[in-house]
Amino acid sequence: MKTHKGSCHCGSVTFEVEGDFAEALSCNCSHCKRKGFLLAFVPKSQFTLLSGEAKLTTYQFNKKQIDHRFCQICGVQPFGQSGETIAINLNCLEGLNTDDLILKKVDGKKF
Ligand SMILES: [Zn+2]
Repeated sequence: MKTHKGSCHCGSVTFEVEGDFAEALSCNCSHCKRKGFLLAFVPKSQFTLLSGEAKLTTYQFNKKQIDHRFCQICGVQPFGQSGETIAINLNCLEGLNTDDLILKKVDGKKF
């Protein structure tokens, strides 16, 4: 698996994630749509936060099962966490051409 580097916009939050990302989830729920996420899910073991824990804050809504982690400085949300699973915002990875991703549309609005 390839190791990708990722970050928020201001660079306070940096991380590495292992994965071969060919597909992305594009969800139309009230949250994903507003943030424009292209998401992929990985086990926590494939994710390493390198910097920025102190700059990250957490947003929860609805059933409050997912920690949406975003940078307090620039407002970018590079990832979220639910238990042992990390949702990566593929738009935050360096060197990944998101135009090459196969988009899988998720009808999250109905949940
Ligand atoms: Zn930032």
